Amino acid sequence: MRILMVEDEKYMAEAVAQVLKKNHYSVDLKHNGEDGLDCGLSGIYDTIILDIMLPKMDGISILKELRKNGIETPVILLTARGRTEDKVRGLDSGADDYLAKPFHTDELLARLRALGRRKTELINDGILKYGDIELNPLTLLLSCGNKEIKLTLKESQLLELLIKRNSMVISKEIIIEKLWGYDTDTEDNHVEIHVSLLRKKLNQLESDVSIRTIRGAGYVLKTG
Ligand code: CA
Repeated sequence: MRILMVEDEKYMAEAVAQVLKKNHYSVDLKHNGEDGLDCGLSGIYDTIILDIMLPKMDGISILKELRKNGIETPVILLTARGRTEDKVRGLDSGADDYLAKPFHTDELLARLRALGRRKTELINDGILKYGDIELNPLTLLLSCGNKEIKLTLKESQLLELLIKRNSMVISKEIIIEKLWGYDTDTEDNHVEIHVSLLRKKLNQLESDVSIRTIRGAGYVLKTG
């Protein structure tokens, strides 16, 4: 699970990051709002921990900007204790949870687990649909009409990314990071191979859905 933490109190942020890493989360730290927004927009994180009072750009503006750009990564806002208006504004702007500072890391870990569970419930109840195809990420079955085909885990993850991107272009870099992780020597052609295998399966299903290559930018899912 990859976490982005945007917090300008460096000492505190480092201490929290250490605890998260011990608990097997991978953590990227950013200390100002602009850097935080840039990273958040990549869409590669599973959760963002976002402070409200930040240099260059405040947390609420970052959150609004992320949601406006279709980034639905769960966000936990860090609010100053007693500032109820921050909490309300935050939840109204699309935050999934909040934590008043100072907080105990055990509480943060509990919130992260709760968000993780919520995400799993969504997947359990949800088969992903796009155009005439349906993907079940748990069984790896891709269906179109009455035809069905089994995907590999990577193909399923790739298609899930494309579907969730909802007709927006996704770059090879993001696909590599999402499917293979940051510290990987996976090369661009790995992505090309998986895209080509997935295209073959979409053809076998005679689906209207296709994966278009956008030169220099990445891939996008199209229908019709
Ligand atoms: Ca702050």
